[in-house]
Amino acid sequence: MVHLTVDIGGRPGANCRGFCAYCYFKHAKDVPPFGCRYCLPFLKGCDYCSRGVKEEYAGFLPLRSVAESFLADLQTVMDDVTRITISGGGDPSCYPDFRDLIELLGKLDVPLHIGYTSGKGFDDPAIADFLIANHLTEVSFTVFAADPELRKKWMHDPTPEVSLEVIRRLSKEIEAYAAIVILPGINDGRVLFETLLWLSGIGVKGVILMRFANYPEQGLILDNAPILSGQRVHTVEEFADLMRECAASFPNLRISGTPLYDPLFDSPFALRNMPDHLDHLPRVDKKATIVTGAVASSYIRAVISARGGDASMVIAVEKEIASLITIDDLRSLHLPDLCDVVIIPGYAFVHDGEAEKVLSRDGVYRMVVRGPEVLAADGETSMGMTEGDVLTLEMDGFFALIQLINQYGCPP
Ligand code: SF4
Repeated sequence: MVHLTVDIGGRPGANCRGFCAYCYFKHAKDVPPFGCRYCLPFLKGCDYCSRGVKEEYAGFLPLRSVAESFLADLQTVMDDVTRITISGGGDPSCYPDFRDLIELLGKLDVPLHIGYTSGKGFDDPAIADFLIANHLTEVSFTVFAADPELRKKWMHDPTPEVSLEVIRRLSKEIEAYAAIVILPGINDGRVLFETLLWLSGIGVKGVILMRFANYPEQGLILDNAPILSGQRVHTVEEFADLMRECAASFPNLRISGTPLYDPLFDSPFALRNMPDHLDHLPRVDKKATIVTGAVASSYIRAVISARGGDASMVIAVEKEIASLITIDDLRSLHLPDLCDVVIIPGYAFVHDGEAEKVLSRDGVYRMVVRGPEVLAADGETSMGMTEGDVLTLEMDGFFALIQLINQYGCPP
């Protein structure tokens, strides 16, 4: 199985026919590098945490350089390529040479996948047939609402009817997933019901609902909050309930939400309710502080205590999403509550050296250990997985976490 990615570059908003009203990259400031798992030990800031996280490309890459890098990648591959994914910071549907790129890739006769598109760049419904003819087999397509007026207003889509017609045609022939960012009072309630009804009618494979974020603690780390001044945001629990309601109302539609909840697998952290699986994890026999986000904390506590660990080892910061923890979140921790070994989320946006300084600033040295990359699949990830995949991912994550506690932790 060889998957290749075609990176077309581009910047969110700038290369999307303007920002959608709710875009997380709106108002993004040029914040200094955060530090991350990829940084060198002596240098805070690498390409990923200073540029990649902001999707900071100068603009779309010219077709020629996209094609050249793709061909260079292709030459390094020994086996047959089984899938090609088009991705970038900008929206593929707005890529100026989109048709040429698709035609070029289509000649390879390999299944194509568009990782994400808003469809705002599609002005002719026939593009759907062209994509299908060129082996597009999977697409994630932002919908917002089935009502073209709402789509026009909130996504700034100049041709909303065409975009909706494109996903309708695609859904008939290929695996099309719809993505919807939910703005309470705008596209939830009746609007959401009608949108799901429409999506279920056209035959989409699944619908990914995303909770809108408007404040730093909800994950806006680019100094860009609020995205929409005065806009209400669902609490995580409200949003999870909404997922349950939607899934119950549309049993023929695969629905899952991020950050919570995937009703099909009771995930993320489906493991917490599976004693047979939990029994296969190692026992926790040492003590270390596990720093995590507000959403994951209670679930991680449940698993750690099921394996004999002390639930108070798990400490939540205010930031809801663990992978978006920054050094400010670590600064907010009450140091006397921490053990001498602190495990931070694998993807936390902090530099290890700086984290150690911040967490030892009371004169007590605390070793910082980076935890596993993932402990659970959020709704966006689990959408394309089986229950077995989800549980394997969680088991692997917790196995690695408990091993770290037992390897680096202090006696209880
Ligand atoms: S299409 Fe996506 S990346 Fe572009 S502005 Fe809209 S939400 Fe942002």
